[in-house]
Amino acid sequence: ELRDALASSSGPGTTADGHRVPLLANIGGPADVDAAVAAGAEGVGLFRTEFLFLDATVAPSEEDQVEAYRTVLTAFGEGRVVVRVLDAGADKPLGFLTPADEPNPALGVRGLRTLLEHPEVLRAQLRALATAARGLPARLEVMAPMVADRADARAFAEVCREVGLPGAYGAMVEIPSAALRAGSILDEVDFLSIGTNDLAQYAFAADRQVGALARLQDPWQPALLELIALAAGAAAEAGKSCGVCGEAAADPLLACVLTGLGVTSLSMGAAALPLVRTTLARYTLEQCRAAAGAARGARDAEDARRAVREVLGVA
Ligand code: PEP
Ligand code: MG
Repeated sequence: ELRDALASSSGPGTTADGHRVPLLANIGGPADVDAAVAAGAEGVGLFRTEFLFLDATVAPSEEDQVEAYRTVLTAFGEGRVVVRVLDAGADKPLGFLTPADEPNPALGVRGLRTLLEHPEVLRAQLRALATAARGLPARLEVMAPMVADRADARAFAEVCREVGLPGAYGAMVEIPSAALRAGSILDEVDFLSIGTNDLAQYAFAADRQVGALARLQDPWQPALLELIALAAGAAAEAGKSCGVCGEAAADPLLACVLTGLGVTSLSMGAAALPLVRTTLARYTLEQCRAAAGAARGARDAEDARRAVREVLGVA
């Protein structure tokens, strides 16, 4: 059994019966690449590009961006690298983009909203990504943060096409409206990626930075799982992929639940990858689906944890 555990702590993500769930890394830039590769990440599911520019007072040049993106794309060979365009605002303000005078920054002009107000910044970033990917075997994909509805998804897709970006473009599901209408968003883009941190924040109206509200940020909450199920179900119906790249994916048992809900890839900080990989390898897809059913039927987050441990036979 020890040998099995060690064998399954490297290699691609899969359930006990061989259902593939690619395990990807969340990174903030080239500095995080080595740890992700060492942990056996199959690619990158979330490259938080705004982390590169948290201290910048002027918009970064295209050349500086090309260099950072090329370093990351090179490191993952033929792997999938999902790059999120700048998610400025709220918990990640950028000096050269974020309005300073908003009463409610989390509900204000942030993420894609900022980029649509500054289309030259979005275009420059997409051009830099296209240049960085040229001649490399990596599978570059880009996604937009804070997509609220189909119009947002369409606006993002139009800029991607205009710039001639190679590869797929997607929308993050971080706002409940996007989960509720995931099917219409998928009419405009190629894939979904669920950001559970913001999805919980907006579903429960609980600021993710306020410790006193931790109970409402718990990703095991059945209401959050219901929104995830909606998005994953819409993607399955459309024949498109729907990953999770929020903190929820880093919880080994919750990763099994997410798989059972129909999520097609899991992206997390590198440190969480080995335990998620070995845990997922222990259960069949059918067991993951049973766990998902138990969690959705639970009264609250604590009850969901208890029910899933029981279904999966975890002591
Ligand atoms: C999220 O909101 O879950 C997410 C992955 O993005 P970030 O944490 O960077 O806002
Ligand atoms: Mg987010």
